[in-house]
Amino acid sequence: MKIAVFPGSFDPITVGHVDLVKRALPLFDKIVIAIGINASKKYLYSLEERMAHLEAVFVDYDNVEVDTYEGLTAHYCTKVKSRYLLRGLRNASDFDYEKTISQLNNIVGDGIETMFLIAQPEVSHISSTIVREIIKGGGDASPFLPKEIWGMLNS
Ligand code: ADP
Repeated sequence: MKIAVFPGSFDPITVGHVDLVKRALPLFDKIVIAIGINASKKYLYSLEERMAHLEAVFVDYDNVEVDTYEGLTAHYCTKVKSRYLLRGLRNASDFDYEKTISQLNNIVGDGIETMFLIAQPEVSHISSTIVREIIKGGGDASPFLPKEIWGMLNS
């Protein structure tokens, strides 16, 4: 069984993330969307909220699982018997950052391969960071958010 781990913060999940997962589904038997817990990072949404967002978006997908993990992504992959990471590339700065992380994960994870999909032009400008700024500023971020979570963000 070919399992990919899609690691990230998902603070919050955007239509860019959803597009990436949907495009990667034909390539794998299962995709585990895994929220990495980083104690030193400040999040807008709690871990429980982010889990609930992901679960709401992918409720109808039998081959998508949602989980959380602490520690190294490569160790988490071993735990869930995955040899593949999924990441998206929006621009050159994503590439520079992801290249190093991917090479490290390949060593630490004993051959783990990171599969990159280039963001579709329609969503390549979308990031959780800008969505958080819009929400904090009282703007309408709904064009960037999956509709399944529209009602969950202001509660
Ligand atoms: P992290 O904190 O690990 O960067 P994110 O939740 O911001 O977590 O992103 C997780 C992954 O999703 C990254 O690989 C990122 O490149 C990808 N991603 C984020 N936004 C988009 C988008 N609009 N289109 C394609 N991929 C995206």
